[in-house]
Amino acid sequence: KELGVTGGKTEAINKFGIEKIVSECKNVVKKYNEKWVQVDDLLGMSFNHDKAYWTFKDEFIEREWQVLKKAHENKILEEDFTVIAYCPSCQTSLSHAEVNQGYEEVKDPSLFYKVKLADEDAYLIVWTTMPFTLVTDAMVGLHPDEDYVYVKVENESWVVGKTRLEDFMIEVKIEDYKVEKTVKGAKFEGKKYIHPLLDKIPQLAECAKQENFHVAVSEDFVDATTGSGLVHLSPANGEEDIKIANKRGVKVFSPINDEVKFTEDAGEYQGLFVRDADRTIVEDLKDCNALVRIGKIKHKYPLCWRSHHPIVWLARKGWFYKLDRLDNKAIDAAESVEYFFDQPKNRFLGIIKERHPWCISRERIWGCPLPVWDCGDCGEKNWFFSRQEIIDSSDSLPDGENFELHRPWIDNVTIKCKKCSSTNTKREEYVLDTWHNSGSAPYSSLTDDEYTKEIPAPFFTEGIDQTRGWAYTLLIENVILNNAATPPYKSFLFQGHVLDEKGGKMSKSKGNVIEGQELLEKYPVDLVRFYFIWKASPIEPLSFSTEELMSRPYQVINTLYNLHLYFKQNSEYDNYNSTNTVQWAKENNLLSSPDI
Ligand SMILES: [Zn+2]
Ligand SMILES: [Zn+2]
Repeated sequence: KELGVTGGKTEAINKFGIEKIVSECKNVVKKYNEKWVQVDDLLGMSFNHDKAYWTFKDEFIEREWQVLKKAHENKILEEDFTVIAYCPSCQTSLSHAEVNQGYEEVKDPSLFYKVKLADEDAYLIVWTTMPFTLVTDAMVGLHPDEDYVYVKVENESWVVGKTRLEDFMIEVKIEDYKVEKTVKGAKFEGKKYIHPLLDKIPQLAECAKQENFHVAVSEDFVDATTGSGLVHLSPANGEEDIKIANKRGVKVFSPINDEVKFTEDAGEYQGLFVRDADRTIVEDLKDCNALVRIGKIKHKYPLCWRSHHPIVWLARKGWFYKLDRLDNKAIDAAESVEYFFDQPKNRFLGIIKERHPWCISRERIWGCPLPVWDCGDCGEKNWFFSRQEIIDSSDSLPDGENFELHRPWIDNVTIKCKKCSSTNTKREEYVLDTWHNSGSAPYSSLTDDEYTKEIPAPFFTEGIDQTRGWAYTLLIENVILNNAATPPYKSFLFQGHVLDEKGGKMSKSKGNVIEGQELLEKYPVDLVRFYFIWKASPIEPLSFSTEELMSRPYQVINTLYNLHLYFKQNSEYDNYNSTNTVQWAKENNLLSSPDI
């Protein structure tokens, strides 16, 4: 944004190059740091700013790598080809925590289409909100225990879930239909169907020749209470879908590139941004008489927290922390912490118990680089966890031994493969999830001695939105680092959000944001602090109103202030010694009840 880039990542790199972007990022960090220092000062908070840590600096990066090293040694860290949330604008994967930050209400297509069963004169009616996923379609799912009905509609026989039948018919505006027979979902297992767009996607037609491709499957995850009660599975675009494909040995057809556009393998849809293909695909379904109805649905859908672009799910390679391999260590660590309130505690423990794999690699420019080099000859993944290790195995160091560990300088280093000694090696151009940086801070920002002495820290506090964010990554990384149920904090207070005076979310687009700095320049900090304490419990959201701030809280603080002035003036007049203690007051009988 600072450089005036309006497009995505590719445009930015082509226009400016990585070095320019990195130096601009450093400026942004510097700018916001200055703001923080000013606000800390206004708040009367005392920090040792000389010892502030900077996640982009070499010393931080090298220590952060030690977490990776432990994860690597203990086989927590693993590369995987799986479906991940991906932002088409930032062109990088997102973690579950990031996806959960950005749900908003959006309008999507609600598409009902039909696929003909190969060996029966009947059609499966399928529902999806993402028409583009028909390109990567591999299976149609039915719930094993649901009753599915064959209904006669004009001259055709359609298969629809019984639970949804009436609502479905209303939605697709069909009044004339006749139920023919009822069959359990499990009975459809293995029935082959004919995908309606095969002539437009020759590579998909190739896949369809396989016996287990384009078949009905009966699976428990199918929700028989939405749509038509039948869903289609696109292993390249759904987390659950790829799991089922892997379980059943079904090929993952993924003709989608980094910019989330269809590749040549997608046939006629080549070059289209996947979501832009939605409309074309609906048109094509209509042309081949496979469209049942296209409507719109309003639902909550995740947007990227950085770019506000709707997220898509893609099959990608990435590096993961397989958190199920920590056994109960993370849960035990989390349970040993004091949270002060039950509600945020239970929510946090619930998230830890999910043990969902954490995708830690990001295809970005700014961030802690992943220190792994691929060998172009033997395929070995060469890991190094310190500058010295890299230097010792280096083949060429174009920027000398003191090269900056950040991108792009680390990318210039080539190493000798540990396995085959080939110098045909290249660093995988990943950086770590930014929440990995902050999660490693207790270790990365301190020396070994300081870490041993200070961690677990007595108290941490953060906004409730950080339950899946910082609170989570701090805990997980400390457990990985110690390979033990050791939390990095003894207590953690989750705080509710500050909202606008009507209880709405503050956002730049609404123009209702109160900047901390402006507020504190205008109002006394003690008043603001008192208002926070007076108005709500720390876990509750707080509707912030400067009008309210200036009413009752101001009166109370003002009274206290004037009492203080009154005392100060009179005690000076009476030559009162202000160093007198409570003990002194007791000894002089000033604290006993008056004898009246
Ligand atoms: Zn994004
Ligand atoms: Zn090799």
